[in-house]
This record gives sequence, structure tokens and C-alpha cells, in this order.
Amino acid sequence: MALYVYKFGGTSVGSTERIQAVAEKVKVSHDAGNQLVVVVSAMSGETNRLIALAKDIQSQPSARELDVLVSTGEQVTIALLAMALEEINCPARSYTGNQVKILTDDSYTKARILSIDEANMRKDLAEGKVVVVAGFQGVDENGNITTLGRGGSDTTGVALAAALKADECHIYTDVDGVYTTDPRVEPKARRLDKITFEEMLEMASLGSKVLQIRSVEFAGKYNVPLRVLSSFKEGAGTLITYEESGMESALISGIAFNRDEAKLTINGVPDKPGVASKILGPIAEANIEVDMIVQNIADDDTTDFTFTVHRNDYQKAKTILEKTCTELGARKVTGDDTIVKVSIVGVGMRSHAGIASTMFDALAKEGINIKMISTSEIKISVVVDEKYLELAVRTLHKAFELDQSNS
Ligand code: ADP
Ligand code: ASP
Ligand code: MG
Repeated sequence: MALYVYKFGGTSVGSTERIQAVAEKVKVSHDAGNQLVVVVSAMSGETNRLIALAKDIQSQPSARELDVLVSTGEQVTIALLAMALEEINCPARSYTGNQVKILTDDSYTKARILSIDEANMRKDLAEGKVVVVAGFQGVDENGNITTLGRGGSDTTGVALAAALKADECHIYTDVDGVYTTDPRVEPKARRLDKITFEEMLEMASLGSKVLQIRSVEFAGKYNVPLRVLSSFKEGAGTLITYEESGMESALISGIAFNRDEAKLTINGVPDKPGVASKILGPIAEANIEVDMIVQNIADDDTTDFTFTVHRNDYQKAKTILEKTCTELGARKVTGDDTIVKVSIVGVGMRSHAGIASTMFDALAKEGINIKMISTSEIKISVVVDEKYLELAVRTLHKAFELDQSNS
């Protein structure tokens, strides 16, 4: 007998028929003698619908009220799934984050899980019930509802698996595993049997939304065996694992991309100590996250300073930067919110030279201009014009022979 945490995403519970299909799948595993905790997302499109309702009323709704609102999506699906299970004689009980309880900090819309009370779940499991838990939500120490950030049900699933020391955590979704890149952009993308935590963490942080980044962090930290599989078809999916010595690793495991990027440049900044902090300080104070940063070599005692932010923060960051520009006596501020970031990821990069030049050559041959570059031990990212996103992804997929099986 094993204890599993299964998480089903929005598409997998997108209609009552699909919820019934999930119930059937859960029942098969339960009948086989497994103990099951099932985490569900809101029905597909529901979280977006709720956010749009809020925006109809207030352009900047309070984060606390937003969480009260969006957490309702998952409350609907837990109840429906518990009913669907009862209907086929599979005993089940649903819990909201508060009822579990999943205690978080009070950072509304991006809360972090602090602790999970296992008592209710353990009791139900011992009684042979399937425990159905709302993903994405928790409660802070004052009883306020919180949510864990978009895609947060993945993190609920992994956190429950860690707390319960589950044998495995299965993330059931609308693709049958983690692919070399998003199969919606490159149909030749190939499913990976395994990927390391490190690579998955990079892929997630660089834009692959198949797993929320925090869920991967959590699984790595608490040693949770994590698998991504399809809700709709059988298969072993992709196992996220530690790097094994001797594990045949490809140079590049995958390509990630992020469409939500914008860049800003402040030109002609006097080249003096403290300038970078004067530029980025006010940006940080406004709670705007900065990703890539490039400062040119000074010319005529002045320099250009460029950084990227989330596209939603572009206007706000530009306004702040214009003020800084005047204060510093810099020349001007320019910006572009039609850029994207494309990244190649692979632990094999550590031990091989020439990966960057292969990447840049391939992009150059297609006439794709690179606007910014950043590298780390296991990734290389480039910023390109958004119109080149699909072409860049497919070009790199081919250049690194990712469509060819290496197993
Ligand atoms: P869910 O609603 O089940 O949480 P998501 O939409 O959050 O599902 O994540 C699944 C989607 O992630 C897929 O439909 C796919 O388009 C996208 N995706 C992006 N990168 C990858 C990748 N490397 N491998 C597989 N899917 C990916
Ligand atoms: N429903 C939430 C979202 O759409 C959480 C999730 O699906 O993981 O972001
Ligand atoms: Mg998701």
C-alpha cells in the first residue's frame, strides 16, 4: 500500500464530465489499496474569469480581497470531485486550505506555506477515505485567506506530499510529461523520461509553466519524488530527480521562454560609484522585480544601463526611471515592451564549451537579432523581439538536436 498525492490541473477538471473522469481514475488507484490525497485546481479559465471580474470594479483591487475572490475557484472543484467520488462509491471528504489547515505567511497573492496540519487528513486516510484538498490556497495566522501565486496548486500538491511523506507526488495535467520545450510552440518537442531538479527549476523560473517554480523548490528541498503525467492518457510521464553520476545527460535538456518581458534603458548616466543602486533602488522600493541587468563599458565618462522587468510593471518602472534620469542628470530613458526571453537549459553545459556559440550562430543564420544575453552555470538566455519567439525556439530546438531521442 502506498500513499500518493495526486494533483489535477484546471483543464483536467474543466467540466463536470472531466471531474467524473478524474473520480474514476482516483477510484481505480484507491481500489488498488492506495491511500490518496487529491489536490485540485479551479476549472480551467475560472481564475482568469474571477480576476477579470475584480478588474471590472477596481483597477488595483486589494490583494486581500483578490485572494478571497480567487480562492473560490478551487472550493467549487473540491466539492464537485468529492461528490463525484461519493457517487461511484468511493468515500471522500473535501477540505479548503483553511480547513486542512495550510498555514501561510500574509503575503496575499504570493503567500508561502509555513506549516501543514496533518491531523484531519491522517484520520480520513486511516478510515479509508480519499482526501480532496483545494490547491492554491491557505490561511494566515489571523485567519485571512491567502493564495500561493498563479499555478500554485502544484505547490500545494508537493507541500502536502512532503508533509505526509507520500511515496510519490503526481502532477496530472494536459500534457503527458515535461517536454524539451512547450509542445504548443514546437510540435517536434520530445517528452523527457527524467529531468533533474536543477534543470526543472531553471526551466520553471525561465518561463515553462508546466510546474510552478515553488513546487520544484519544495520537492528538491524535501526530497519529494515528483512526476508529471497526463490526466487523459496512460504513461509513465516525466520523473523529476536528482542528478545521478553516470546519468547520460544531454548537452541541453530543454528550451524555456517567457513572453512577459520588457526592457528599459537609461542612457548617458554619469559613470560614478553608486549609480546602479541609485537606479535600481527606487525600482526595488516600488516592489518591481528586476531580472537581467547590463551596464555598458563607460564611454566619455557616461554609461548606458539596461534591465528587464515583467511586462505588467513596464509603465510603472518607466515613470520611476524618468524621475531618476532627471535626478542623475542622465540623457534619456528608452524602453521596449515587445521583447521575449528565450533560454536553453542543461546540466551538460557545465562540462562542454561552445554551447553559446552554437546558440548565437543558429539565431544569426535566421536573422534573429539578440538584444541581451545572460548566462549561468546551466543556462543561457537571450532577449529577442517578440515576433521571433516561435522561430527562435524552433531554431534552437533543431540546432541542439532536441527532437532526436538520446535514450
Ligand atoms: P495545469 O492547468 O494542469 O496546471 P498548465 O497549463 O499550468 O496546466 O501547464 C501545462 C502546460 O504547460 C502545457 O499545456 C504546455 O503548453 C505548457 N508547457 C510549457 N513548457 C512546457 C514543457 N517544457 N513541457 C511540457 N509542457 C510545457
Ligand atoms: N487556479 C490557480 C491558477 O489558475 C492555481 C492553479 O491552477 O494552479 O493559477
Ligand atoms: Mg499549472
